[in-house]
Amino acid sequence: DMLRTPAALADAERWTAHNYHPLPVVIADGDGAWVTDVDGRRYLDCLAGYSALNFGHRHPRLIEAAHAQLDRITLTSRAFVHDQFADFCRGLAELCGTDLVLPMNTGAEAVETAIKVARKWGYRVKGVPDGRATIVVAENNFHGRTTTIVSFSTDPDARDDFGPYTPGFVTVPYGDLDALAAAVDDTTVAVLLEPIQGEAGVLVPPAGYLAGVRRLCDERNTLFIADEIQSGLGRTGRTFAVEHEGVVPDMYVLGKALGGGIVPVSAVAARREVLGVLKPGEHGSTFGGNPLACAVGTEVVKLLATGEFQRRSAALGAHLHAGLGALVGQGVVAVRGRGLWAGVDIDPALMTGRQACERLAERGVLAKDTHGSTIRLAPPLVVTEGDLDWALEQLAAVLREA
Ligand code: PLP
Repeated sequence: DMLRTPAALADAERWTAHNYHPLPVVIADGDGAWVTDVDGRRYLDCLAGYSALNFGHRHPRLIEAAHAQLDRITLTSRAFVHDQFADFCRGLAELCGTDLVLPMNTGAEAVETAIKVARKWGYRVKGVPDGRATIVVAENNFHGRTTTIVSFSTDPDARDDFGPYTPGFVTVPYGDLDALAAAVDDTTVAVLLEPIQGEAGVLVPPAGYLAGVRRLCDERNTLFIADEIQSGLGRTGRTFAVEHEGVVPDMYVLGKALGGGIVPVSAVAARREVLGVLKPGEHGSTFGGNPLACAVGTEVVKLLATGEFQRRSAALGAHLHAGLGALVGQGVVAVRGRGLWAGVDIDPALMTGRQACERLAERGVLAKDTHGSTIRLAPPLVVTEGDLDWALEQLAAVLREA
């Protein structure tokens, strides 16, 4: 009766920096929406790698594409062109309905790329005086962990003690068009937003907000950068969350699910007038756009091009939200989200979000808390209705037993 989990947890704790506080689960393998721990216990993965696993664990077509590429070539650097590169960039540009793609690796790198492109566009195209470019961002944003990105975070945990900070960012309340209109001026090169704020607790902006941002950016000759790293690629029931308001941003920032949960793949996609400002030597990445990343990314784009995952997310998301709505007043205070993505506020009188996630894990459901009493649910888009009903039963039981 020797469980392997306690020693594995202690070992991980002993040998790593404590920049995470993981749930006490040690995963050994995964298949679709389910994972198994080192002691053989099964869990429904309702976090899906913060939406990096939209297609589930080890989707057969993605694994096949990765295997095939592993047997050919995995890295060239961009000092040379390889035979997977153009297909990936074309496929992603077409999925975004735009001209050009710049592949990177992590989400934060893609956000940094968008910031650099917007600044250069501001100086060379808009005519902002040198060194004066500003980018408007939202309160409670989450765009990554680099020093520049945490400079415009409003979360003390993310920002404090990591200065000096990169200047050039102006913060406004999320969802407030008047505040945004007041903040945008002749030095504004971009408005950078999450179409739904994920880490903040799956905050959906008021109806009309994203369309209003688009209008304002057009009127003031400012780029609209949509960070769709978490909201994009099927998560909300559309390919991109901006589509819910018929909005086309000037730059899409993508990551997470773009690598199919296999390799880190991120990208910026934009029209030629925007992304074309970059010239040789001004930006790059050793691993960005590598053959393995492109082979997997191309297959991800093909999966999304069928529309099947977006349809699943919309239909199953409606089912999930109906089930969660029925728990409001039964230990749940509020539910937000779109598609297979929900922020669930647990009654703080009952338990913290962390405690809810620990009890869910004991019952075989993996989810992650954020900001005290919220839990995030974002299962892989391959989850079944039966899986969701079972997860909802587990949540109801956790709340009932509190
Ligand atoms: N932007 C958004 C909206 C995110 O949710 C995340 C990750 O959670 C990032 C950027 C950063 O991505 P990465 O962790 O790959 O750097």
